[in-house]
Amino acid sequence: MRHARPLPNYLVQRYHGWKATTWTENRAWYRRLAEEGQRPRAMVISCCDSRVHVTSIFGADQGEFFIHRNIANLVPPYAPDGEQHGTSATIEYAVSTLKVAHLIVVGHSSCGGVQGCHDMCSGAAPELEEKSSFVGRWMDLLRPGYDRVKDLPEAEQLRALEREAVVISLENLMTFPFVRAAVEAEEMTLHGLWNDIAGGGLDCYDPATGSFVPI
Ligand SMILES: [Zn+2]
Repeated sequence: MRHARPLPNYLVQRYHGWKATTWTENRAWYRRLAEEGQRPRAMVISCCDSRVHVTSIFGADQGEFFIHRNIANLVPPYAPDGEQHGTSATIEYAVSTLKVAHLIVVGHSSCGGVQGCHDMCSGAAPELEEKSSFVGRWMDLLRPGYDRVKDLPEAEQLRALEREAVVISLENLMTFPFVRAAVEAEEMTLHGLWNDIAGGGLDCYDPATGSFVPI
């Protein structure tokens, strides 16, 4: 592979800064992490969006969260068809091998993926309907959510759809037999969150009311 290049200088400098401070001050902790292996208590599924920062929000150190990120924090339904499923693979590993105690789906405000889904489903983004659009085909997972929010006032639809991305993911998680088994055995709990980037708010899905409540 002849196309890879040396790391940009600003990242090299940041790395050396981290090595000289954080790593140096905690070298015993890093050695222990390496020797004992990871035992994260929680898996987090969040959006790829660079503004979503679950390790900051929860003050989590290395070794605490098993994190999977994809566009719009979506979980596809269980589909054991022999194809390559990145998100499903991470879930399988977290639940069956790491045996995490909590699986947390984190949505967020002004999600570009959710906006794209809204545009596609409302006819404003025909390019996303193309078979060749990876984003469009990924956002097909959220189409059932659009049907649930499309009759709301225009101004409320996007936020509602961001929350549907969390709820649909929780629903799809329960189609995985090993997830359902762990939940029903009370070995693992599912959680849905929505993060307001500007206000720093964190709302938690309440299954009793079907709404998101500030925590
Ligand atoms: Zn997003």
